[in-house]
Formats: sequence, C-alpha cells, structure tokens
Amino acid sequence: MTIPTLTSAHLASAPYGHSTQFSRAGVVNSPRSKAPMGIVFHTPGSTWAKGIWDKLADKSAANFDEKAAAAFDGREYQPNYLIGTTGKIFQLDVDSNRTQHAGKLANNAPNKDIYATREWAKWASPSDGSGFRLHGRSPETVYDWWFAAFPGHNTPLTVFPWKDLPNSAIGVDLVPVVDGSPSQNTKQQHEAAAWLIKELAALHKFPIGKTTVTTHSMCSPVERGTVSSKGSIIGTPWDLPPKHFPLNDIIQSLSVARV
Ligand SMILES: [Zn+2]
Repeated sequence: MTIPTLTSAHLASAPYGHSTQFSRAGVVNSPRSKAPMGIVFHTPGSTWAKGIWDKLADKSAANFDEKAAAAFDGREYQPNYLIGTTGKIFQLDVDSNRTQHAGKLANNAPNKDIYATREWAKWASPSDGSGFRLHGRSPETVYDWWFAAFPGHNTPLTVFPWKDLPNSAIGVDLVPVVDGSPSQNTKQQHEAAAWLIKELAALHKFPIGKTTVTTHSMCSPVERGTVSSKGSIIGTPWDLPPKHFPLNDIIQSLSVARV
C-alpha cells in the first residue's frame, strides 16, 4: 500500500514555517506497513536542549531551533517531526517511515507480559536508566494520573489503537525553551502542534481524541511515567506536563472546530 506523507506543499501553510531539508543520515527507519494511527508527543528534555544552547555563539531562537533539528537528525531514536521553540516544524523523516520514538512496551521488563493486565502498575522503569523494578508502593497511587485519564481501563493495550507498538503512531518532539522562561514550551509551539495534529489526522484518516493523540508518558506509563527521588519511585509523567503543553485543551479545541 502507498502511505502518503506531508510534503512541503502541505507544510507551506504551517503557521510558523517549516523545513524538510534534513539528510536523514545515519538513521535506518523502516517503511510502515500501514498508515500511522495517531501521534505521540515527546520532549527531548531540557538537559539535552541546554547542551545545544550552551554551545551556540548565535543564541537566537531561530538558530537554536536549527541546531536542535540538526542534532536530532542523525539520532537513532528520533521522531518524524520536531517543533522548534519558534513554532517552526522540522520534518526529520517522512510519514511513511516508522521512526523509533517510543519503542515497544515492556520489551525490557523481566516479565514481558506486564501490560497484559493491571500488573504493569506495580512496576517502574525510572528515567535515571536503572531499569525495570517492582516499586513496592500502591499501584493506584503511583499511577493515579494514568488511571484518572482513562477511567474504566486497566492497561494502555485497550486504550490506544497501536496497543504495544506506539511507534505505529507518528512521533513529534517539542524542543524545550532553556532561556529561563517559566514554561518549557511556547505559544507558537502549541499553535504549530495544533496545526500539525489537524493535518496529520486528515491525511492519515485517524480521529482526533485522547486515545489517538497523546504523550509518551500516557502510552508508555511504566517506561516514561516514573522517576527516582532519593531512592524511592515517584509516579509522575515527566514527558510534557500539561502546564507546559496543554494537549487536552488543544485536542478539545480541534474536536469542537470539526463539528
Ligand atoms: Zn519520549
């Protein structure tokens, strides 16, 4: 089957500009066998962004975005799109290629079936890289944010159309602001993200809603929804908190606009 891709012609109406000028050098992304089923949003993290920022002679937002996109372009783990702090959209690979941005659920867990039932909520894989472990706390407390987001569901497998393969969605990263601003993301990024959601949903024919347009923490809660603090596990979605990126509000505004 032929899977379409947003081209420069589509991207020409992006609110803050776009670029498709990336080499995709050194990255082997594989062709998709079916159209993308949704979108998973990510942040590359402010530590990474600050590493780019600190080396810049020209610290303009436009130059920061270009350098961030160039740095991401050669990474093995990359999204299809990167939205810079100016709202500019960088296409790092075409929609018809499956990029490696969210992995496969629990493929490193001691028990591979943790997501088959509510069992997953007993586990943590903190962002410090220490690996999967039983956190020993109340599962309902550690992952209260996940269970509140999807009432009546026990596992991401029944929530998302891609089940345990979130790479079946298109990955989009938002470059964090590191200039001391209180929010890690800008209004221009929110607007560019809303525009991109609408275009991708129309092109690939997926509905816009919270089970198709989500964040890494929501679709992969053990791998991205726990952190370590002083030896104990804290359950918190560290990927794109709503105070920086109001994804639910964006989804709601797009759903209302379509009626
Ligand atoms: Zn991520």
